[in-house]
Amino acid sequence: MENGKLRIIVCIKQVPNTNEVKLDPVTGVLLRDGVPSIINPDDLCGIEAALELKDRYGCHVTVISMGPMQADVALREALAMGCDEAYLVSDKLFGGADTWATSRTLAGAAKMLGYDLIITGRQAIDGDTAQVGPQIAEHLGIPQVSYAQDIEKLPEEAALIVQRYYEDRYQKIKIKLPALVTALSTLNTPRYMSVGGVVAAYDDIPVKILKYEDIKDFVDEKDIGLKGSPTRVKKSFTKTAKGQGTLHDAVSEDEAVEIIVSKLKEHYVL
Ligand SMILES: Cc1cc2nc3c(=O)[nH]c(=O)nc-3n(C[C@H](O)[C@H](O)[C@H](O)COP(=O)(O)OP(=O)(O)OC[C@H]3O[C@@H](n4cnc5c(N)ncnc54)[C@H](O)[C@@H]3O)c2cc1C
Repeated sequence: MENGKLRIIVCIKQVPNTNEVKLDPVTGVLLRDGVPSIINPDDLCGIEAALELKDRYGCHVTVISMGPMQADVALREALAMGCDEAYLVSDKLFGGADTWATSRTLAGAAKMLGYDLIITGRQAIDGDTAQVGPQIAEHLGIPQVSYAQDIEKLPEEAALIVQRYYEDRYQKIKIKLPALVTALSTLNTPRYMSVGGVVAAYDDIPVKILKYEDIKDFVDEKDIGLKGSPTRVKKSFTKTAKGQGTLHDAVSEDEAVEIIVSKLKEHYVL
């Protein structure tokens, strides 16, 4: 708590505005040229969830992003929506990080900043692993609830009731703070930036840079960047279109089954 206010950290990732990420066929590197960047959609809902808690309980909302300097734009958008502080975790030492090293670094930044609640998106639309949120909670040794579709704070306790999406039903889980929650895009409808917020985001509130030097007491150098990344990418490629396929007319379900079975036999699948 800071001055009696709940401290919320929202982790946001700047992603290309497409879920058809293209890779250089030779180097396997992500091609970002000409693709505009946005805040990852689940993370916008994470920001909105934090701001709704702020509206009701007067929380302090800090937004953090690990990435290159251009992620500054995403952080300013979050400030313009109503977040109080923004940190860009950026250093060439963090380059080449996989999800493990990314989550180690973000956990180190969170430890340095202090928190009662950390909110991440469920999944980023480019990397798509859904690993970073749960890994941050594991590194910090705090409880977590993933797939949140509703978050309520208990007024008298440092605890939340989180409604968690669970296939054909939902679970309601009471979680004591400090804790981490991963937000689904069905959690809420993110608010727009306000005009006053945009002015404040560009004129009044600085985006502070966190380099490794700033968080070195909270994360070991061997756990960051490429050398802290246990994943090795052997090959990456863009999926090619498979073509249209073949259409068959069937007058009944039985005939459709017959056609499918005969085709599978033809290709030695059955
Ligand atoms: C060996 C290897 C090398 C890589 N090298 C690079 C590289 O050089 N440059 C590069 O851009 N990517 C690199 N990546 C990809 C990078 O590791 C992932 O993009 C990153 O770890 C996030 O994983 P994800 O996209 O699957 O996020 P998810 O786990 O799907 O994200 C879940 C949530 O975690 C939070 N989150 C995730 N990432 C961030 C972040 N950076 N900042 C704040 N919050 C975040 C968001 O709230 C997000 O909604 C590399 C990956 C591997 C395996």
